[in-house]
Amino acid sequence: MGHTKKVSTAGRYGAKFGTGIRKRIIKIEKKQKVKEACPKCGFRKLKRISSGIFICRKCENKFAGGAYFPNTLTGGIVGKMIAQKSFSTGISELEAAKVAAEEIKEKEAAEKQGKAKHHADSAHEGGE
Ligand SMILES: [Zn+2]
Repeated sequence: MGHTKKVSTAGRYGAKFGTGIRKRIIKIEKKQKVKEACPKCGFRKLKRISSGIFICRKCENKFAGGAYFPNTLTGGIVGKMIAQKSFSTGISELEAAKVAAEEIKEKEAAEKQGKAKHHADSAHEGGE
């Protein structure tokens, strides 16, 4: 192969895309080369079968992960929440936030309605 030292695995793209993007590709591809361990059996036999879907070639455990990596930051946080069984408290917090958000929404909607009415009236006067 020719001059692919700098861009290593992304060398196959040739001069396309520019070096900046190809360097980013290298970062992702290096990470992809590292075999991730199966969350069920622990063997590093994971295979990405499509975007977000991984399968373990050892125990045939099929699961959803990140688009390119079996483990994502958000996935890790959710996993920890499940492990700590903190969902019940999390849900009550979410519901409290939801109620608060709805109250604000209602207030805003009422304010908007008042304004819209005013606008409609003035538009009617001016138009047609
Ligand atoms: Zn497995």
